[in-house]
Amino acid sequence: MTYQPSPDRYTSMEYRRCGASGIKLSAFSLGLWHNFGHVNNFENSANLIKTAFDAGITHFDLANNYGPPPGSAEENFGRILHRDFNGYRDEMVISSKAGYTMWDGPYGDWGSKKYLVSSLDQSLKRMKLEYVDIFYHHRPDPETPVEETMAALDLIVRQGKALYVGLSNYNAEQAEKAIGILKQLGTPCLIHQPKYSMFVRNPENGLLDVLGREGVGCIPFSPLAQGLLTDKYLNGIPEDSRVATSGVFLNENHITPGKLSKIAALNDIAQRRGQKLAHMALAWLLKDNRVTSVLIGASKPGQITDSLEALKNYAFSETELSAIENILQQ
Ligand code: NDP
Repeated sequence: MTYQPSPDRYTSMEYRRCGASGIKLSAFSLGLWHNFGHVNNFENSANLIKTAFDAGITHFDLANNYGPPPGSAEENFGRILHRDFNGYRDEMVISSKAGYTMWDGPYGDWGSKKYLVSSLDQSLKRMKLEYVDIFYHHRPDPETPVEETMAALDLIVRQGKALYVGLSNYNAEQAEKAIGILKQLGTPCLIHQPKYSMFVRNPENGLLDVLGREGVGCIPFSPLAQGLLTDKYLNGIPEDSRVATSGVFLNENHITPGKLSKIAALNDIAQRRGQKLAHMALAWLLKDNRVTSVLIGASKPGQITDSLEALKNYAFSETELSAIENILQQ
C-alpha cells in the first residue's frame, strides 16, 4: 500500500531556528548510523523513516560510511525516499558527511578537498539526490590545513551539491577557527554535531559557548549514550539491544557496576518527574536553547514515538539539576 504521510505531522513537533540562520530544524532529528545497513531489515528501516516523518521529524542524518557495509545506509535511504516519499523531498532536510575512512588509498579518508568532493559525489549517487541540505566534515584532520577543508565545503555549496555546511567532532578551539574561515569564505557554518549527553559533557568545555556566540546551531549525537541512558540495561542485556545485536561501538564492557548505579539513580529522578529515563535524558539536552535539535537513533519505530515524549517536559528545577549533577559527578 502506498504510504501517505500523516496530515497531522506538523502539529506536535517543535521547530527550532538553527543558530542565526534562516532554517529551522525539528527538535528531534533521526540518525541512520545503525539499523539502516544492508545487514538490517529493509522494511523496518522504511518504517523508522515513516514513523519519524509522521511525527514531524524533518531532518535525517547520514554519512558516507553508515551501514554496514559502508554506504549501504545511504543506498537504502535513497530507495526509501524514491519509493515512499515521492513529492516530499522539499519537506526534508537531508544531511551527509565525510571524514572517516571510506575507501582505500590516500583519497578516501580525512579532510582533503579531493576526498570531500568525491565522497559527496558518491553519496549523492547512492541516495539518487541532486543535492544534500547539509554536508559535514565528520572529524578534524590533524594533517590537512583547515583552510583547505573549509574551502572544500565552500566549493561544494557553490557547486550546488549542498545548501549548508557543518562540522562534527571539532573541539571548541578547532570549531572557532573553522567557523571563522567559513565566514570569510561567505559560506557560514550552519551547525555543529558533537557527542553530547548526560554521560559525555565535553561540549560544555567551551564548545557550546563558541556556537552560541557565533550563531551556529548545535545537534548533539548519541543523546542516550547509545541506549545506556534508558531503563533497558537495568535488569540485564536484552536480546534485541544494541549491546547484544551490534556490540561494536557499545558492548558489555561499557555496562560497569558504577554506570549501572548511576543509571538506576537517574531513573529514580526521572520517575519522580513522571518521565522515563530516556525522556529525561533527552529533555536535559533540549533545555539548552543553543541546542537546535537532538539527534536520536532507533532500532524500532515505537522508540521514536516514545522518545518524542521528552518534548512534554523539558523544564528542570534547580533542585533536580543539582541532584542529577551529584549523581553524574560520583
Ligand atoms: P542514541 O544515543 O539516541 O541511541 C540510540 C539507541 O538507543 C537506539 O538504537 C536504541 O538502541 C536505543 N533507544 C532509542 N530510543 C529509545 C527509547 N525511547 N527507549 C529505549 N531505548 C531507546 O543515538 P545513536 O548513538 O544511535 O546516535 C544517533 C545518531 O547520531 C546516529 O544515527 C548518527 O546519525 C549520529 N552520530 C554521529 C556521529 C558523528 O561522529 N557525527 C557518531 C555517532 C552517531 P537498541 O538497539 O538497544 O534498541
